[in-house]
Amino acid sequence: MTRARVLLLTAALGPLDYRVPQGSAAPLGSVVVAPLGPRRLGGVVWEDGSFGAPDPVGDNRLRNLYEIVPVPPVPAPLRRLVEWTSDYYLSPPGSVLRMVLPGVAFADARRPIIEYRATGDLPPRMTPQRTVAIEAIGDRQGTVRELAALANVSEAVIRGLVQTGALEPVSVAADAPYPEPDRSFAPPDLSDEQRAAAGQLKAAVEARRFETLLLDGVTGSGKTEVYMEAVAAALAAGRQALILLPEIALTEPMLTRFAARFGCEPVAWHSGLRQAERRRAWHAIASGGARIIVGARSALFLPYADLGAIIVDEAHETSFKQEDGVHYHARDVAVMRGHFEGLPVILASATPALESLAQVEAGRYRHIVLPARYGGATLPDLAAIDMRADPPDRGRWLAPPLVDALADRLHKGEQSLLFLNRRGFAPLTLCRTCGHRIQCPNCTAWMVEHRLVHRLACHHCGHVMPPPRLCPECEDEDSLVACGPGVERVADEVGLRFPEARTAIVTSDTLWSPAKAAEFVDNVEAGLVDIIIGTQLVTKGYHFPNLTLVGVVDADLGLDGGDLRASERTFQQIAQVAGRAGRGVKPGEVLIQTRVPDAPVMAALVANDRDGFYAAEAASRKSAGAPPYGRFAALIISSEDLEVARGLAQRLGQKAPVLDGLSVYGPAPAPLAMLRGRHRFRLLLHAPRSFDLQGAIRDWVGAIDWPAKARLAIDIDPYSFV
Ligand SMILES: [Zn+2]
Ligand SMILES: [Zn+2]
Repeated sequence: MTRARVLLLTAALGPLDYRVPQGSAAPLGSVVVAPLGPRRLGGVVWEDGSFGAPDPVGDNRLRNLYEIVPVPPVPAPLRRLVEWTSDYYLSPPGSVLRMVLPGVAFADARRPIIEYRATGDLPPRMTPQRTVAIEAIGDRQGTVRELAALANVSEAVIRGLVQTGALEPVSVAADAPYPEPDRSFAPPDLSDEQRAAAGQLKAAVEARRFETLLLDGVTGSGKTEVYMEAVAAALAAGRQALILLPEIALTEPMLTRFAARFGCEPVAWHSGLRQAERRRAWHAIASGGARIIVGARSALFLPYADLGAIIVDEAHETSFKQEDGVHYHARDVAVMRGHFEGLPVILASATPALESLAQVEAGRYRHIVLPARYGGATLPDLAAIDMRADPPDRGRWLAPPLVDALADRLHKGEQSLLFLNRRGFAPLTLCRTCGHRIQCPNCTAWMVEHRLVHRLACHHCGHVMPPPRLCPECEDEDSLVACGPGVERVADEVGLRFPEARTAIVTSDTLWSPAKAAEFVDNVEAGLVDIIIGTQLVTKGYHFPNLTLVGVVDADLGLDGGDLRASERTFQQIAQVAGRAGRGVKPGEVLIQTRVPDAPVMAALVANDRDGFYAAEAASRKSAGAPPYGRFAALIISSEDLEVARGLAQRLGQKAPVLDGLSVYGPAPAPLAMLRGRHRFRLLLHAPRSFDLQGAIRDWVGAIDWPAKARLAIDIDPYSFV
């Protein structure tokens, strides 16, 4: 009789033993379906000695596995990565495994998926909901559930449309092969510097061993073309290549660039995929049929058949850190995956994270530098506008020198970009009569006005409401005023000052799908946009040669939060957005509106003194023992019941470990004291780099009795302190 130890796809349990049915085999890594009580759960056959020893179960009490799923087994290096991730981030291994095996892994790839699309016939009886649905669906197709979500109607409405013949079924083959990329389709014309860098990356791919390479090139230096040569080397070796991107909005333009280089689009993996697309992509990745994969951080854990290289683009981006579920950092886990699989990991950035530069300094990462822009383009000129000396007009946000510069570009037919990292129209609505501020009922946060859709929205929980006519507090009429600018308000000002200018607002509200992002790029490239007004979404990846002016509307915004990376993040963000200017033959100009032009980060930006900034920042982190020279971890306790949360936080505080080198701060109410209706308290742990933080937390938290109504989130190496 054969036993198998199975790690199930549930956060609640460790591995369990099962009987392998007679006549079947379930070698290590096999994907299986197993009984758990009355349920059927997916899982993976794991090594016997893993995750400690569960209680021995007699052979006679073992239950049979239901099924061994006909997909390739999860390879040993990926099983080690699951264990490491679970161990390092103190997350249940079943939760990590779920990223390897999303639901689509268990679907039969040979069975087609039925999707629906509009026929053009209208149903005999129209209802308002049906009208909304037909308009929203347009020429797209999807499953009943996807179309219902797309149109924001119930599934019954969609099924009704199917019955009347307004929607027709389409069968989508889930195992259709992807086109084969051609590594010699359109080799780029590289500069000498690029060719030297590409040569190093290619050699690292051919060496088939673990190494981390930091591809550090100024904006516009052609990093993408360089790392594409590493992709070509992986293809030449018959292997796969994975490119991780920080935002799904960047995926679409990247797919186009890859298609231009390799003759066909790569396989995409992100949360915006339809069910049918996900299933097809997952199976092709696991079988080796997908050769180049461009994806969001969730692509990192997929079971690649034969991965040859991982590239993390814009590797400094903090959006690689996942802030719920398993709190992992995709850049750091990518390096670990390279370590377990024996393959090179390439981190590409114009403004590397201090963490990555410290690894270079310690001799652990290889540093490959591209110091100049491609094709002789020069770096833009940066200047600060002192908002105290040159303030905007009352009720306006753009200072006179920036307005003049915009007028000049409009006159010359060149494009401009205004950057403000704040969505919506205004971050705060205030009553002039009584001072009341409109707050989210579920969070310690103000409701942000979104005038384009006529709503107030909470950016933390998604709560929306129509803008009230009366003050909710004093019931005064017409007393509510918008305070402060968001991108929509800056766009309003641009519209008032330059009525003839064609503008585009770029935020996650307007560029919510890869298709929208592609449309935006097409419009800018076709010269249909004069002034772009955008959030951090426009700071990276885009290459618009006719864009010659960048205005940073409020450079101080990122410095307010006071978290340990505030200066670094501000430097990176402004350097990145500045990098959008003057990428063609015309030189670029960048104007930075600030009230603190003497702050070290502003001075370094204006002086183009990157090395000086990083050196000063490193010195101050070193003296504070802050990352990357020390370690932090956060415990976040939350409950719908304030007293439960407070009581538990206090108990954790009282039982806090007293260990040499470890400091424990708190518990204190979190800055976001309430989030999605849950009261939150935080504890912060600080220790030297060599300290075993995970061990201390495991012992500490493991000894506490846990009330059912409370939740604990553990955040190792936190990036968010709210
Ligand atoms: Zn009022
Ligand atoms: Zn909220």
